[in-house]
Amino acid sequence: VSLFLALEHSSEDAFHKTRAATLARHPEDDIPSLHRVKKIISDLSGVTSIIKDMCIDSCVAFVGPYAELDECPMCQKPRYDPIKLRLSGGRVKQPQQVFHTFPIGPQLQALWQHPDSARQMHYRRRRTQEIIEQL
Ligand SMILES: [Zn+2]
Repeated sequence: VSLFLALEHSSEDAFHKTRAATLARHPEDDIPSLHRVKKIISDLSGVTSIIKDMCIDSCVAFVGPYAELDECPMCQKPRYDPIKLRLSGGRVKQPQQVFHTFPIGPQLQALWQHPDSARQMHYRRRRTQEIIEQL
């Protein structure tokens, strides 16, 4: 988790390469994979992503009025992988593209749990009070 946080502005490839280099030198170390690190952080923070299907060309998300559609209303491309759908006789509906969204509620709750981030969230109130005092 420390490695992940240290590389917060780096690519996933940087994490993979750093982890692999460390494990090559110290194979006895238990350095979790990126997937496991994300799961650990998700469990600790309570912030999890909601995964929804979207058009492979990013035209629309299959939510709300589009939730039940099997093809994009804009470009008519299929929602699900047509090969997997055909080979499974219509049983395997694997979306061709998905997106992740993070609800704001758990993010705010996680921010309030640490004194530093909770203090930072009072910035506007602090600055407003300072400006009022100056006036
Ligand atoms: Zn489309």
